[in-house]
Amino acid sequence: MSAISAVKVFPTLTAVFLLHFFSFCDGVNNQGTSSQPPTGQPQTVCQQVAINPVAGGLTELHDPILSRDECEIPTPAEALSGQGHDTQLAASLPTTTLFASQIATLKSQAGIDPSVPIYVTPDILCGNSFAGGITGYGIIFVDGKFLAVLYEYATYLALVDLNEAPTDQFTAINNIVYAHSAAPCVDLGEQVFFRSSLTPAGVALATKHFDSLSGAIMYHEYGHYWAWAYVDSLRLQFVPGAQLFYYPSKIEDDADFISGALSKRAGHELALGQQMFDLMAFEGFLRLGLASNIQQIDSAYAQFLQTSPSYQSLAGRKQTFANGYAGYQ
Ligand SMILES: [Zn+2]
Repeated sequence: MSAISAVKVFPTLTAVFLLHFFSFCDGVNNQGTSSQPPTGQPQTVCQQVAINPVAGGLTELHDPILSRDECEIPTPAEALSGQGHDTQLAASLPTTTLFASQIATLKSQAGIDPSVPIYVTPDILCGNSFAGGITGYGIIFVDGKFLAVLYEYATYLALVDLNEAPTDQFTAINNIVYAHSAAPCVDLGEQVFFRSSLTPAGVALATKHFDSLSGAIMYHEYGHYWAWAYVDSLRLQFVPGAQLFYYPSKIEDDADFISGALSKRAGHELALGQQMFDLMAFEGFLRLGLASNIQQIDSAYAQFLQTSPSYQSLAGRKQTFANGYAGYQ
């Protein structure tokens, strides 16, 4: 961009940031702006601030039972649009009870309300071009095939802990992802590393690692739900100048930040949460014919490559996740 055009664009960007205000709550157990607290109770004030809301939202993420950002209130029209979108989404994605107990465990570890609708779909890349999971207005889907990959990788990591790993990390990841990718749309069960081969101590290690790996993706999707990402994306369409240049990765950044914060709240391992991003990228790129091994994803080039305006590079996403992890005290 030349200096002249930068000068022309800058006032537009300033106006966009001022127009598109965000909100955060300063109360821990707030009830939103619409409720009237009993006399004598501290009143919650949802303040409108021209900053990224996620840092402000950290206060809310300490709520004993997490549901949704109480300071963002969808309009009836937004709710109607979102519910229609969810109906279409649910019609296109089958669900499975596989990993249902893991979903419940992850909810419990991060204080997420058990009633938050999080489903596992057998293989999200079956007919779609996105990986990991998807969240609509009031419904969340996590990819079962990806969870199966993470489950086996957690078994491998336990073998590493016990000095019993038969292969190096890259070989293990490649073999696991190749095996599960060989049969799209269906669950294959364990393929390379078997939990039953572990001692009870090994199972405990694998369970802990699986919590950290699977938490990072489930909390990312839940982060979209918590922050009303569907509503945000609707509203962004109506921000003047948004089509030109408006912080396009905001929605995904929010989810990564929240995922980091909740991984901390859950007591999970930061490094494994970050590694989830590489595994997700590899599974997705392999299935889409864009990568053939994890070494390609691990390269500096791929780590810093931004492949979509909606997402930061893998390195950037890991940093945002780490910022959420560090910010949750
Ligand atoms: Zn996302």
